[in-house]
Amino acid sequence: MNGLMMDIPLTITSIVRHAERVHGHKEIVSITRDNPRHRYTYRECFARARQLANVLQAWGLDRGDRIATLAWNDYRHLETYYSSACSGYVCHTINPRLFPEQIVYIVNHAEDRYVFLDPDFWPLIEGIADQCPAVEGWVIMTTREHMPESDRADVMCYEDLMSPQSDVFEWPDLDEQVACSLCYTSGTTGNPKGVLYSHRSTVLHTYATLMPDAMNISSGDVMLPIVPMFHVNAWGNPYACPVAGAKLVMPGNKMGDGPTLATLINEEGVTLSAGVPTVWLNLLAHLRESGERIDTLTRIVVGGSACPLSVMEEFDTYGVDTRHAWGMTEMSPLGTTNHAGGHRALYSPEQFAEMRTNVGTPIWGVEIKITDDDNQELPWDGKAFGALKVRGPWICSDYFKLDVSDAHAEPGWFETGDVATVSPDGFVSITDRTKDVIKSGGEWISSIEVENAATGHPKVSEAAVIGRIHEKWGERPLLIVVRAPGEDPSPEELKAYLDGKIAKWWIPDDVQFIDEMPHTATGKIQKTALRETFADYCFPAQQ
Ligand code: AMP
Repeated sequence: MNGLMMDIPLTITSIVRHAERVHGHKEIVSITRDNPRHRYTYRECFARARQLANVLQAWGLDRGDRIATLAWNDYRHLETYYSSACSGYVCHTINPRLFPEQIVYIVNHAEDRYVFLDPDFWPLIEGIADQCPAVEGWVIMTTREHMPESDRADVMCYEDLMSPQSDVFEWPDLDEQVACSLCYTSGTTGNPKGVLYSHRSTVLHTYATLMPDAMNISSGDVMLPIVPMFHVNAWGNPYACPVAGAKLVMPGNKMGDGPTLATLINEEGVTLSAGVPTVWLNLLAHLRESGERIDTLTRIVVGGSACPLSVMEEFDTYGVDTRHAWGMTEMSPLGTTNHAGGHRALYSPEQFAEMRTNVGTPIWGVEIKITDDDNQELPWDGKAFGALKVRGPWICSDYFKLDVSDAHAEPGWFETGDVATVSPDGFVSITDRTKDVIKSGGEWISSIEVENAATGHPKVSEAAVIGRIHEKWGERPLLIVVRAPGEDPSPEELKAYLDGKIAKWWIPDDVQFIDEMPHTATGKIQKTALRETFADYCFPAQQ
């Protein structure tokens, strides 16, 4: 017997209707090229999204067609998100930090019909536009007076397109399984792969991220998403904030700029923020130098890469709780959150210090398991390392226009490519990417734990660990360090610092210094580049 409940599709359009009615007066503040502090309300945002829907309709697009964006976090990008998804098109967000040839591949693979871009990215696009023959128009997201020069007939100005349009538009009824957005992962090998989100997956992920032990967003919050809207929909914040009625503060192209972030936090009363560890390193460095405070900020969500304990402890001194989270593009992205900081009274200081650095427990909706090389499930005992697999309604079942993928080899599960341990009560520790594990004498060393410990040294700005060949042990860890400004630590000093913080046999055999850490387009340390740089490296005793 079925229940007798209404079968209302879970669509992004329902977010628009709710936010417009209930939170219409709440503000969205943005930094853009043409306005250092643009400010309007959710009601105005969705009215403009309907104006844009009229533009898109006039172009004669078909349902499911892709509209691409190459843009920072700001209100025009948000309008494009909602306008395309609620019209039945797919908003394809592109990471502008990718190599031009990767962008060409992605635009052509996705068969994007129009591309919306910030003026900042016009020089990049101008050089590759001819290699994307299916694109019918390039819309620069600015006003007429800020338009870059171009002779191309297919270049348009966003505000010129908008101004003649009415804000009356009837959003179509959509099936909840219909695709709403597309994001390509930038794998280190092979071509990028497209993750195609649905209205349903997005709405369910939104519900989950709002939960108190997940991101805990409410109508009293002022949210500053420093995670880019071109990377996994800014971790779902552009959907969660209008649902909750939180004020949204969007940093535009000032994403990694410590002074601007501190100013935004203080002037807009930001209570909550989310970003990758690098962003926080920039903000903390600025606060240290300037003596500025960030008193309104109560908590931050950190993910995308492992968050070092030193970062969490420094945020403690500002009264900010650091919530560690783990996820992936393929997971919309949220998979786990470490909510221990929200319940400190439950733990002794020692217990808390130990447990806060792991990535926490799966949020409701995400099931996990760890398996060994023979695909046998491993116990949740906090010791067994295994390949981490996940399943759930916001986890990708296939890649866009790709028939086979290793990640979906086990039916019903997605293989994350991460290696993890899980404690008896479900706390997950990510020890490595499968490709990055270091095996010394047959035993695994967690490069992430060694890196986190090394980053805590005050003379270290960034640290990475890679395995290098060793005659006796097969592989041993090599620590690669970017020194903090004006500092010159010795290898012995760094190794001595690690003693007692990690297992003795995990201490790297040597330390090498570099001026700049190579990063991927999504801000992760690029270990493939480090392995290339140190391809001929031999440990001192072996030379
Ligand atoms: P992406 O799809 O680009 O967001 O990358 C996802 C990958 O980032 C995951 O599979 C992990 O390897 C890594 N990652 C994300 N969050 C964390 C975290 N909190 N700690 C360690 N690695 C993480």
